[in-house]
Amino acid sequence: MHGSIRIGTVRGIVIGAHWSVAAIAALLAWGLADGYLPTAAPGYRATSYWIAAVLAVGCFFASLLAHELAHSVVAQRRGVPVERITLWLFGGVAELHKSADRPRDELVIAAAGPAASVGATVVFLGLSGILGAVAAPEVAVAAFAWLGLVNAVLAAFNVAPAAPLDGGRILHAIVWERTGDRARATRVATTAGRTLGAVMIGGGIALFVVGAWGGLWFALLGWFLVNAATAESTHALLEGALVGIRVRDVMTPDPVTVTDDETVTHFLGYTMARHHCSAFPVVDGTGRPVGLVTLRRLRSLDATTRAACTVGDVMIPIAAAARAAPDDAVLDALSRRAAGDGRLLVFDADRLVGIVSPSDLDRVIELAQLRSPVGA
Ligand SMILES: [Zn+2]
Repeated sequence: MHGSIRIGTVRGIVIGAHWSVAAIAALLAWGLADGYLPTAAPGYRATSYWIAAVLAVGCFFASLLAHELAHSVVAQRRGVPVERITLWLFGGVAELHKSADRPRDELVIAAAGPAASVGATVVFLGLSGILGAVAAPEVAVAAFAWLGLVNAVLAAFNVAPAAPLDGGRILHAIVWERTGDRARATRVATTAGRTLGAVMIGGGIALFVVGAWGGLWFALLGWFLVNAATAESTHALLEGALVGIRVRDVMTPDPVTVTDDETVTHFLGYTMARHHCSAFPVVDGTGRPVGLVTLRRLRSLDATTRAACTVGDVMIPIAAAARAAPDDAVLDALSRRAAGDGRLLVFDADRLVGIVSPSDLDRVIELAQLRSPVGA
């Protein structure tokens, strides 16, 4: 996620936090130290409230992380690799490398998070009860009770049957299992997500109008749900359109190449003008592919640098460019193309046989949507 910093690694999963976490932590600590704790446990000094508040907020983020780790560990056990966990404005996200291949796997991966939150609720409420029974400081009893409560709310909200919430994934898995139709399951879960989001936006605005500031937060969360559910259904449509299509069906075969010793000035003035492409594979004197040069890459250079360089100086080296084989599934290859400015170089063994550009993909997606009833 843009704007997040890396905190550490657990079981090979990078743990990160977005800057928005700092703002939420400060708001929560303030609300606890200045509002909830003095009301629930009166009679302490402000410093005591602040210490308890900061510790409680720390425990809150630890329990959020436990929720995401629960998803991640179960995913890893089910053969779905996890890249990173990021804590941000609306809680946490565990980024799975791919979707689960079976509905059962999806169901248990999704259910693990809320289960961890329920576990945290039991632990924190239990601690609060024990501390209350042994007459420990009331401020600690109240802080643990708050932690139990927020984890219960977190579990309850997350099981709402609406994508992209955990409950939406569970709903998706159930519809998928029952009907065998993954696309239909996605439609059901994302429609539920958009509906819940719209209800939250409406309800949040109504709350705000009658004077409850929290309504704004509610509406913002609803807006995030609508967006995420829409993105998910668009992505599913695209996936549906590309299923079964191989790189060789999409690529532009035998692309025009340039040599690495060509000057950038000559390249822009002649080669570029003669061919209607915005990316060219680069070859050396012997015809061996050595890189990829794109218009986007050249635009990032100033005029003086451009005038002094050859294509070889500015190209993306072949080792760093995204590559694919003709028989690769387009869907798998797509996730790699960021490394090549959105292009894939296609190699048959060591021979360069084609290039896949964004316009090649647009064309094939539009074609597939014309053919399939889903896209119509
Ligand atoms: Zn979750």
